[in-house]
Amino acid sequence: MRPALVLALLLAACKSAPQPTLNERAALHPRSKVEEEKTNDAFVQALREEYQALGRIQAVLRWYSGTQGETSLTQLTYIGHDRLFRKTALDAIALARQKPELAANEGQALTFLRRSLTGEIVALATAKLDDEYEDAEAAAAVTLPWREKPVAYRDLQNLIAQEPDADHRQQAFAAMNTVRVAKLNPILERKEEAAQKAARETGYPDYVALSEELRQVKLELLLASGVAYVKATDAIFRTTLDRVAREELNVPREKLRVADLGRLNKAPKLSQFFDKALELKVLEAFLSGIGLDLRTAAGTEVAIDDSLHPKKRPRAFVNPVDAPRDVRMSVKPTGGLDDYETLFHEAGHAVHFASSTVVPKELVDLGYGAPTEAFGEFFRHAFSDPRWLVRYRAFLAAQGKPRPSDAELAAVLRRLALKEMMYLRRYAFAKIAYELRLHGRPAAEIAPAAPLLSAPEKASADLRELYRQLFSAAYTFELNEQEAQLFRTDVDDTFYSADYSRAFALAGMMHDSIRKKFGEDWYANKEVGKFLRAQLFSAGTSLSSEEVAARLGFSAKVDFEAAAARARRLVSEADALEKAK
Ligand SMILES: [Zn+2]
Repeated sequence: MRPALVLALLLAACKSAPQPTLNERAALHPRSKVEEEKTNDAFVQALREEYQALGRIQAVLRWYSGTQGETSLTQLTYIGHDRLFRKTALDAIALARQKPELAANEGQALTFLRRSLTGEIVALATAKLDDEYEDAEAAAAVTLPWREKPVAYRDLQNLIAQEPDADHRQQAFAAMNTVRVAKLNPILERKEEAAQKAARETGYPDYVALSEELRQVKLELLLASGVAYVKATDAIFRTTLDRVAREELNVPREKLRVADLGRLNKAPKLSQFFDKALELKVLEAFLSGIGLDLRTAAGTEVAIDDSLHPKKRPRAFVNPVDAPRDVRMSVKPTGGLDDYETLFHEAGHAVHFASSTVVPKELVDLGYGAPTEAFGEFFRHAFSDPRWLVRYRAFLAAQGKPRPSDAELAAVLRRLALKEMMYLRRYAFAKIAYELRLHGRPAAEIAPAAPLLSAPEKASADLRELYRQLFSAAYTFELNEQEAQLFRTDVDDTFYSADYSRAFALAGMMHDSIRKKFGEDWYANKEVGKFLRAQLFSAGTSLSSEEVAARLGFSAKVDFEAAAARARRLVSEADALEKAK
């Protein structure tokens, strides 16, 4: 079975061509290097070649839409490639996978390829609605009483983060909400239906089962870990959030609004220590300390675009166009703690992909997502380590910049610890529970989350109310009706939240392991980079979260109890640093 859009693309591509003859497998790409496809193996080989070519073309186009604001052409690139997204392709790959003489890495490559194509089939089925959503979002603008001209919907998130006045933040949030309710949520409701239908058409019982296969996760177990994490961190999260909210925004925890969180993450009180002009230099200092750089395993350099093009995406991102040889990183430094964090996270992706020497190609970029995110988070974690923060202070002094005091370094650490807890509570608990229900699973399946809800029976038949209660529990302040309208836009396709939440926990484990192996102050030890490259990065995306844990010297599981212990350690390290001397 194939989704409607793929069929439509096929018809459009073949309008003037003669009727295709019988065997639909026979139509290889006209430029294919595979000469004949009389055997199943040759057919699969041709599919791999075509999918890689398509992926590389899309990556280059994405690079230009991200850095230059070029109109996105992703949908157009699928025209003529429908053979990749059919059940026949999935079946052929499954058949090739069964060959007993297949080398382990080849077998894994086929597994990754099949998962990736399955995900694309579902994505293509909703692509029209994604486009409709993008267009609606791009066209929407709101008027704010203190601004002369209408403000684009897409600029509102940044505007809110930069707005010092809490009332203005509230009004901007309310304006966003009118767009959400009137224009965006209805499109997403239709998308949800289409996605569930497409998942069943690929042969899975439902969307949740498909997502579990794609991300190799048992959501029930993950939710149980998430619930335990929320309980274990509740007290320390409340006090830390209360303190940071008072310091940054002059409000207690209970008075916080969702619109305040972006502002809180910007950490405006500490902005003088995070100068945009120094971002790349700091990164270079961090990397060279541990024997890493932005050279690739193929002898090239990671390409960096640090231009200030007005249409460029403001957040840093990495694009592994043809890793390891061609890896690109886009940065548009705006300064501030959150900008530094994003840069370090993305640099983790850049170094990882630039070091991925594993073969075949599918193992470089089609494999496990959670460890990839963990490698990014691991670099970001430098700013929640007092040893790196002290080195960072020396770096600032050497640049002739103001030196942060111990208390100010402690404030940085505390904000990072807060954000890590916030992420884990949000992704491992609230999102997993909410999205299980959104995608059609019964209330019984999120039973472990029920004790954390204020009125579970009220939430059992009302998705918006469920969202409100779950995120109120995660954030520890009560969401109002308006904030609950995020229940459609605050959703990640096929449980990306499962990769994120495991990544945060895994990155903490990486940090523990490196401390154990190389000493607490490992930031000047070049062996660290060698270890990371040899043991983790060179394997591309072929290692599961469990395998990464094992290579780090732990038992083969993602340990959320360790994540909770880490949260307590970080906060006490912040307290100790604050009181030092
Ligand atoms: Zn990332």
